[in-house]
Amino acid sequence: MTDKELESLRHKMNDVTIDMLDLFLERAKIASEIGRVKKEIGANITDTTRESQLHNDMLQRCKERNNNDDVVNGMTMQQTEQIITKFLNYLIRESINIQSINIQSSNIQSSNMSSACISSTGNNECCGDNVAAHLSIFAQAKELEKSGNDIIHMEVGEPNFAPPHTVKQALAESYDLGHTKYGNSQGMPELLYKLASYASKKFNPAIELSDKNVIVTPGGRFAVFAAMSALLKPGDNVLIIRPAWPAYENCAVYLGAQIRAIDTTIQDSWMPQLSQIQDAINNNTKMIILNYPNNPTGKILPAYLLDQIINMAKEHNMYVLSDEIYADYVISGKPQKSVISYEYDKCIAVQSFSKSHAMTGFRVGYAMAHDKKIIDRIKSLSSLCLTSVSSPMQYAALKALNGDVTSNVNTINDRLRMLIQEVKKQANLEFVNPDGGMYLFVRMPTSDTSEFAQELLKNDMVAIAPGMGFGGAYGNYIRISVACEDVQRLSKGINKLKNKINQE
Ligand code: PMP
Repeated sequence: MTDKELESLRHKMNDVTIDMLDLFLERAKIASEIGRVKKEIGANITDTTRESQLHNDMLQRCKERNNNDDVVNGMTMQQTEQIITKFLNYLIRESINIQSINIQSSNIQSSNMSSACISSTGNNECCGDNVAAHLSIFAQAKELEKSGNDIIHMEVGEPNFAPPHTVKQALAESYDLGHTKYGNSQGMPELLYKLASYASKKFNPAIELSDKNVIVTPGGRFAVFAAMSALLKPGDNVLIIRPAWPAYENCAVYLGAQIRAIDTTIQDSWMPQLSQIQDAINNNTKMIILNYPNNPTGKILPAYLLDQIINMAKEHNMYVLSDEIYADYVISGKPQKSVISYEYDKCIAVQSFSKSHAMTGFRVGYAMAHDKKIIDRIKSLSSLCLTSVSSPMQYAALKALNGDVTSNVNTINDRLRMLIQEVKKQANLEFVNPDGGMYLFVRMPTSDTSEFAQELLKNDMVAIAPGMGFGGAYGNYIRISVACEDVQRLSKGINKLKNKINQE
């Protein structure tokens, strides 16, 4: 190739790029106009049907331009389609951002956090501004407490009981044993060994786990973030089954991934339908996120359904990221099967000491995968941003594994049973009996529980989590946590809740 040829190609490239920029700006202008019209007519920002149509049109055009050839420009049709999908996802995200600016000013729940979310029911409004709704209520409740108010906390999942006794001694020992230095970024070797054998026994994986299959993280939250960051690229599609813990969507949006939300319903007892999942998958879907026992519904998936989901993931070569941090809290008698028990190397299971061992402040969690490359990728990220998880805390977690969590589970289950009775008896509200976890997800007569929650806190000193935080379709739900209060105070909280409903 001569210098002249190169120069001429570069000119062409400049021209095409500038044309694209003009088109992009034109597109942004149209998006803003659409946002204005949607605001006027009160329409949703996202229209899944239109987006799927546009996606299909683009794939069709791509095939035509490539004359239906299998390999063009050195890329297979499948690779080209993936790039097209990523590019379209980017464009959709940008127009939703622009439209959100218009919609936000009309006070419809939305934000750029909702910008990467498409729901199976056309409910575009993801967690949005309400992403941390329960945490915002928690923060307000803490402020009220500072001024001397007595708050009944039913908004967060932070166990009010103590960590195992062994942990106290472990913290003192860690000083004497010299666990005071930087550590290995995958985790303290003794803890990795112990977790591998603990998890192999507990979750009965097809292939026995070794220390190489585990990585320790500062909490389950970081394990989720690190796994998503390590395995997803901007523009990739991710499936989330809602109602869902808001962090999955937040992480996806932060990473520039496009969410496909699968909204489950109270009528279906919060069971995702296989057809919903199938319909949400496209050629660019890289991951499905599962969380069972579920926060907020307490649902546990029947084993046959999990088998089918894993098979579907295998068929489409998708990662399965399973947040199993409530695994110990089972009330129905049938524990959730861990994804690590499948012989599928794209499964990642996340665990934590926060809920099972009441060690929220210790910030110790872990991720497990059969594929060591996955662990290595998470490790690279961990070493980049953490160096290592705090050594004394890892040592405390190691010792905590010798403790028995049965009494924690019994405490939570007793409270849940009582709450189920009280909510039925006192307030006659609708919910599905949870199979596990530490929450009750309750349908309310109020259409927007965000305001209701604010008032309940301000006037009655009772903190609950508004449903909108778990997905746009759940604005008329609340999540009641049994983690922080004993049965008497929970019952008192429900009584106040009932009185407020009656006043409405
Ligand atoms: N996953 C779920 C489903 C949660 O509800 C929470 C905390 N509420 C976490 C992860 C984070 O837990 P950790 O304290 O281990 O970061």
